[in-house]
Amino acid sequence: MISRSVFFAFGLLFLSLAQAACQSTTSKDQQNPLDQLEMLEEAVAPSVGVITPMERSDDEWRAMLTDKEYTVLRNHGTERAFTGDLLENKTQGVYTCSGCGLELFASRHKFRSGTGWPSFWQPFRANHVGASLDGAYGMTRIEVHCARCGGHLGHVFDDGPKPTGLRYCINSAALDFQEKP
Ligand code: FE
Repeated sequence: MISRSVFFAFGLLFLSLAQAACQSTTSKDQQNPLDQLEMLEEAVAPSVGVITPMERSDDEWRAMLTDKEYTVLRNHGTERAFTGDLLENKTQGVYTCSGCGLELFASRHKFRSGTGWPSFWQPFRANHVGASLDGAYGMTRIEVHCARCGGHLGHVFDDGPKPTGLRYCINSAALDFQEKP
């Protein structure tokens, strides 16, 4: 049942992304790729509880984050490929936000993408990771961020493995790792 809805949602997501890449305008009749992503996330990682957004001043973030964490989380930076300290991590556990500690991804959903960044095929919970359209650099991509602190994590693409077909391409600097046996 889940796989049927997942593939249906993925198909719609793929079509929406293809439309977004080919057209600069949208109409009410077109599917919003963010809605399709949310549908797919709910199918594979249902929301639990309510995530209450938190606010910190820029000065507070600068004081509590490393330079690398600040650049990625608060300034939409991207670490160089193959430089992140969690890229090759194969230990079982949970990846949390390096800004606020919210659970974002699980090791059982991590896969080797070959891109040079930690990659996951689904989030920990649908409501733990937010998404928005990113039109930077002449591309239409879906940016993903922590649902609690708003910290930038990376992007999600539609060329991941089954069962979702998604690839969450995430900066190591945006993540901490909590080992769980
Ligand atoms: Fe966070």
